[in-house]
Amino acid sequence: MAKVTLDKSSLEVDLSSDELLRYSRQINLAQVGKEGQRRLKEARVLCIGAGGLGSPATLYLAAAGVGTLGIIDQDTVDLSNLHRQLLHGTNDVGRAKTDSARARLLLINPTIAIETYTTRLNASNAIDLIRNYDIVVDGSDNLPTRYLSSDVCVWERKPNIYGSVHQFEGQASLFAPHLGGPCYRCLFPEPPPPEAIPSCAEAGVLGVVPALIGIIQALEAIKLIIGTGDNLLGRLLHIDALTLRFREFKIRRDPNCPVCGDSPAITEPVDYEQFCNRSKGSSVRGITAVQLNEMISQGEKVALVDVREPFEFEIARIPNSQLIPLGTIPERLAEIPRTATTVVMCKTGVRSARAIEFLRGEGFENLLNLEGGLDAWREAVDSTLRKY
Ligand code: ZN
Repeated sequence: MAKVTLDKSSLEVDLSSDELLRYSRQINLAQVGKEGQRRLKEARVLCIGAGGLGSPATLYLAAAGVGTLGIIDQDTVDLSNLHRQLLHGTNDVGRAKTDSARARLLLINPTIAIETYTTRLNASNAIDLIRNYDIVVDGSDNLPTRYLSSDVCVWERKPNIYGSVHQFEGQASLFAPHLGGPCYRCLFPEPPPPEAIPSCAEAGVLGVVPALIGIIQALEAIKLIIGTGDNLLGRLLHIDALTLRFREFKIRRDPNCPVCGDSPAITEPVDYEQFCNRSKGSSVRGITAVQLNEMISQGEKVALVDVREPFEFEIARIPNSQLIPLGTIPERLAEIPRTATTVVMCKTGVRSARAIEFLRGEGFENLLNLEGGLDAWREAVDSTLRKY
């Protein structure tokens, strides 16, 4: 029965009569009791991301009485988030997720403290942030953040409750080498090359799948705080929502792990922030959103080819771009200019790099990849572009 060490003695806090009533149904459980409830009140949990996983996790952690919830998220609420991110409502579209989360969580439980950070977890802030909490619930939706949060939790000896989803599947585990289990890198020592990842943000997901995983993450945090039950240490839980089958895999700490192993090669935070935008190892020539915008505004002749799917093009596009979905390129070669400079784009720059590699094999030499895709264009040039 692992139990996190809380900063202060849990005997120092008292529960008000309101709190005793609010939590009475869980205090009634022998495994919780007043002592468990005090421990929850003393606990500080950092949730990375207020999205699909962070929504259910923080809603239930707040309701259960976790005294201090930290939430870090740099995004604003988007209409396309709402089918799975129930922390936020339709009225919150456009608002910082951290603000929307704080308001919603305080409605559920005004007795707790919410600490928000409207930024991205990165190599320069990760240690200070994580050091300040007892447990990290990793609800991030991208590999760079996941590696960073796992690495820092190893160094700071904080349990890292992992969750991830892909389409109808999800998985969860507890990474805590200091309690005897593995870390994320024991399973996946190095990030895969960007082109090997299905996408950083483009895959579909059914809203209830992250909900299932986020709830399990909250449950694991609560059990760790009160120190009861068996947890996911050394176990990777996999859920297939389509067949509704739960499977479990044994996972072990790897003595050769680059972070938690016996002679670690990585001892300080690595910034993978540009990870999704980088075509590492690819020789495709790129152009940044800012450079492309300059070319266009200076009237330079440039053709724009968008290789996304029609529905994506309908949601958002760069003016004067031509839609040629990736899968249709082989039969539409004649529509792609052979002489004029042509910038190829997609949502994040991964599919367009693949398109350029294919087209070069067909003799095209004038192609540039829009680095970071339309997401980067929205960040750097046109914030009115609809996000999806
Ligand atoms: Zn490890």
